Amino acid sequence: MALFRTKKAIFTAAAAALTLTLSACGGGSGSGGSPESSGSAPYSVASNVSLTGSPTFDKIKSNGKVRVGVKQDQPGLGFMDAATGQYSGFDIEIAKWIAASLGYSADKIEFKPIPSANRESAIQNGDIDYYVGTYSITDSRKKQVDFAGPYFVTGQGLLVKKDNTTINSEKDIAGKTVCSATGSTPLQNIQKNFPQTSARSFDTYSQCVDALKNGQVDAVTTDQAILIGYAAQDPDNLKVVGTPFTTEKYGVGVTKGDAALRKFVNDTFTNGHDVWQKVYDSTLGKSGTKVEQPAVDNY
Ligand code: GLU
Repeated sequence: MALFRTKKAIFTAAAAALTLTLSACGGGSGSGGSPESSGSAPYSVASNVSLTGSPTFDKIKSNGKVRVGVKQDQPGLGFMDAATGQYSGFDIEIAKWIAASLGYSADKIEFKPIPSANRESAIQNGDIDYYVGTYSITDSRKKQVDFAGPYFVTGQGLLVKKDNTTINSEKDIAGKTVCSATGSTPLQNIQKNFPQTSARSFDTYSQCVDALKNGQVDAVTTDQAILIGYAAQDPDNLKVVGTPFTTEKYGVGVTKGDAALRKFVNDTFTNGHDVWQKVYDSTLGKSGTKVEQPAVDNY
């Protein structure tokens, strides 16, 4: 089970992660070497993997590469450096770990940026082999795709301008305009459970952050783990307020019915606590905050 048991614990972890990300941005290589900065393969690439009954794995073999759907504008989780084209973050490392377990090194991964609203269709159309990008496991999404995991637990939070004194938690958003991504669970939550709040939506959270900065919206709402990354990029202008008010369990999206791949990824997570810890410690956990890997849900 996740160690993120309480809202307080989530907030504490979030605040610590923010501090750490800020110090990480200031330079310094940190200890242990992150998978990106180490330059060497951090995950052992499996050989002779046999995964019978997985149409996705058959496709990966015939393509000779793994196509992974990700986010590209969420610092700390799934982020692409525009100058180098390099991807980094917790979700990216989870994606590389899965690929390595399937027998494919990082240079055999094709990352495809796909926004929240297009995830189910990308999986259903076979545009990607799996998706790793702050993708909450929900019953309605399970009608269209399957999920391995969860591999991380967070919750919905709020990002406001640094000088905002009126919004301190979700209790203060009546009469305000909040922004979230189209097709996301936080947007649905606002629309359903906060009738006095007006919701704006864009394809991506970075567009919401721009709208916040130029005064078009009062707050951005999504998973606190995502918001912390934006605040860390611009701490003079942005801050995360309140404590998480939902539970979001991140899963790896796979083609519906590919039970063999889902089981393979779940087993990788279950048998790979040490690797999970390494992934966490080198990305979101640079704060030193201890978070336990959640148990997978073999539904
Ligand atoms: N975890 C939430 C979701 O899957 C919000 C983050 C996102 O849009 O990726 O909808």
